[in-house]
Amino acid sequence: MTSTIRTVGVCGAGGTMGAGIAIVAARAGFRAISYDVGQDRLDSARAQTAAFFDKSVERGKLPAEERDAIMARSETTTDLAELGECDLVIEAIFEDLQVKRKLLGQLDAVCPPETIFASNTSTLSITEIAAGCSRPDRVIGLHFCLPAQLMKLIEVSPGLLTSEATLETAWAWTEKCGQMPVKTQDRPGFILNALLVPFNNDCIRAVEAGVAEPADIDRAIKAGLGYKMGPLELIDLIGLDTQVRLCEAFYPVTLDPRSATPPLLRRMVAAGQLGRKSGRGFFAYEGGKMFGA
Ligand code: NAD
Repeated sequence: MTSTIRTVGVCGAGGTMGAGIAIVAARAGFRAISYDVGQDRLDSARAQTAAFFDKSVERGKLPAEERDAIMARSETTTDLAELGECDLVIEAIFEDLQVKRKLLGQLDAVCPPETIFASNTSTLSITEIAAGCSRPDRVIGLHFCLPAQLMKLIEVSPGLLTSEATLETAWAWTEKCGQMPVKTQDRPGFILNALLVPFNNDCIRAVEAGVAEPADIDRAIKAGLGYKMGPLELIDLIGLDTQVRLCEAFYPVTLDPRSATPPLLRRMVAAGQLGRKSGRGFFAYEGGKMFGA
């Protein structure tokens, strides 16, 4: 039997993904409780959320009363016990198995037995995360894409012990939020990252091998394959350090040589060339503009 979701908790809601996920929930009419360890992070996420909806009002896409109602449904807390009122709690905290398992154990103690726990992990096993609590049948993967408030796709991945009812409830919730759910197995990287991490590495190795300049590789992929963004520009956006972390999560599990960190990527990260956020990666960035492409 599926359960009704009214109140949604988001853990790590002061972070990049959590803030966006809380927007998705509140915008769809759910009471959204944002939880993080630091009130300062929550305050700055709330200010960004307000700015996001203010812009929609200015553009005439959202009535001012609706913005006010969404903001009134959006709460923040640093007290985990307040998540005891949630029907669904989505965690988007650091990508670390032990940290996520510990959080699920703490949530287990404060939430009623029927509350569903979802993880936004990109690479970790849902089944292993679920082992941190006493209700693995009520744990599921809901992998949002960056930025969550704009990207529709959610990869929905049941773990080995996830019940059919949990899958149905979580799936229905994503649809109520106006998102596009896609079912995947509990495998590292699900669909997107499993295909993207090796492909992005292939492109980095092509640069390293001197096959072509980064700008020409991106141009070829865009013009020849119809991609909206070139892979090297995308890696700059994701962050070269994040790409290293993804490789380090994938390679030991898959032993796929294409998932191993390319030496050039490691050198660029050591040199502080992290992509868009540091002003330099495969391309250079200044004042929001990209150079070298
Ligand atoms: P982030 O570092 O921007 O945010 C993490 C937040 O979690 C921080 O605000 C931190 O204070 C908080 N936090 C850490 N430990 C906590 C705890 N025990 N309790 C409560 N809050 C805690 O990270 P992010 O990039 O938003 O990634 C979060 C998760 O989302 C990861 O699992 C990541 O793999 C996944 N993800 C990231 C992206 C992306 O492009 N950044 C995309 C999809 C999924």
